Amino acid sequence: AVRVRFAPSPTGYLHLGGLRTALFNYLLARKTGGVFILRIEDTDRERYVPGSVERLVSVLSWSGLTFDEGPGKNGSHGSYFQSERTDIYKYHVDKLIKEGNAYRCFCTPERLKQIRSFAQKVGKGVAYDRHCLYLSKREIDQNLAQGIPYTVRLKTPDGSVFVKDLIYGNIIFNDKHIDDTILLKSDGYPTYHLANVIDDHLMGITHVLRGEEWLPSTPKHTVLYKALGWNLPEFVHLPLLFNPDRSKLSKRSGEVNVEDFAQRGYLPEALINFVALLGWSSSSGKKDEIFTLDELISEFSLEHIGRSGAIVMREKLDWLNKQHLIRKSESQNGLVELVSLLKPLVYERFGKQFNESDKEYKLGDIYLSKVIVTIKDRIQNIKDIAELCGYFFVHPNYSSPESKAARSSIRDGDLKLVAMIALEQINLLNKTEFEVDTIKSIVNNIILTSQLKQNQVLMILRYIITGIKIGAGVVETMKTIGKDTILQRINKVLE
Ligand code: GLU
Repeated sequence: AVRVRFAPSPTGYLHLGGLRTALFNYLLARKTGGVFILRIEDTDRERYVPGSVERLVSVLSWSGLTFDEGPGKNGSHGSYFQSERTDIYKYHVDKLIKEGNAYRCFCTPERLKQIRSFAQKVGKGVAYDRHCLYLSKREIDQNLAQGIPYTVRLKTPDGSVFVKDLIYGNIIFNDKHIDDTILLKSDGYPTYHLANVIDDHLMGITHVLRGEEWLPSTPKHTVLYKALGWNLPEFVHLPLLFNPDRSKLSKRSGEVNVEDFAQRGYLPEALINFVALLGWSSSSGKKDEIFTLDELISEFSLEHIGRSGAIVMREKLDWLNKQHLIRKSESQNGLVELVSLLKPLVYERFGKQFNESDKEYKLGDIYLSKVIVTIKDRIQNIKDIAELCGYFFVHPNYSSPESKAARSSIRDGDLKLVAMIALEQINLLNKTEFEVDTIKSIVNNIILTSQLKQNQVLMILRYIITGIKIGAGVVETMKTIGKDTILQRINKVLE
């Protein structure tokens, strides 16, 4: 059975590339009925950022990528924290040394620096000169007795190394590019290479899916697997991610932090859909490219992962977010989810301006779901409702620059006329009559009585109700906002 792992280092936040790696692992596992493992590669104590494991787990759960084994889950292959597995690494390193496949290196950092710069000067690929490979047993024992710090290096056999990758095919790495890799650092912690290979083997990993930036490490891993006498997993390297200007997508930039996207109101479905399309495409010929996680599981296959780098286009994410938002708003459960996203945003922005009855009504599920249904085709992000459509919650601020701009294309006389007729007409209604049909006939009556053109009347009504020029249909907006509030706004512009 397929066993895959996502193996992040807890050195900060989860970025888009990491989310994509997690997703593709998840999809392969779910597609094949396999197991998806989360393993924390936390052996680099200097780069460890406290709290990042917790945040990682919560971001994964936000995105819907549930793992089967890992921190907080019972699994038969734990611990899933590499920092808790140091004895295992030590055991295998001792074995490698005993069998002559690895050796202790006592070289000082100064010496290593010197030979590195020398190697660079003469253009040699391999940096380490194997000085310590040739130490006698006596020298080694003396060094150990004196407590001289050492690393352990893999003795890399001469000759090219063959790497088989399911995406990139067979790649030959010339041996001059493969150093005698350090396996154990002088602090006793394993390097990434050692811990990664040992854990992949012991955890029964069948497919290693990771970013293409790890491809150059794979020959080292291949040599190590052989030295340990283990079979290789399948390697699947995912194409690099680029900015639209073709520069490499930075890990540091705040622009790629998954938590930030969540904060900015993006739906997990949209972000997942977006990263799925970074390097993978559907074979079913489905043109719109809109997939839920379940749809991705059924469509996914390794064969449709491409080789060329994928460009991260933010416009596409916005578009996908809009599509998922509309889709979600069309189902009862989806609408409930959207309401729960919107509620805190509205509360945060307008809570202070609400009186008690406002609070109950405007933060209520019924009103918020009406607002979403009214405006859903006009927004890209649920946040837009709180940020751009405040008129659903509070009266427009008619002296804001946007309102002044909207007002500038309306003649004073026309505004007054429309407002007065509207006031009169609406006052004739009783509360239960404030429905789309009645509002439409009111609009028609205003057109007839005022002798203005339909689009002028609609523009003026929109200004009165929302203070701006754009939005959903005027009639639908009026209905959602409700009769009493509309009357208050009409009176306000007549003041
Ligand atoms: N810890 C590595 C990372 O941070 C894992 C790479 C791999 O999957 O082998 O991405």
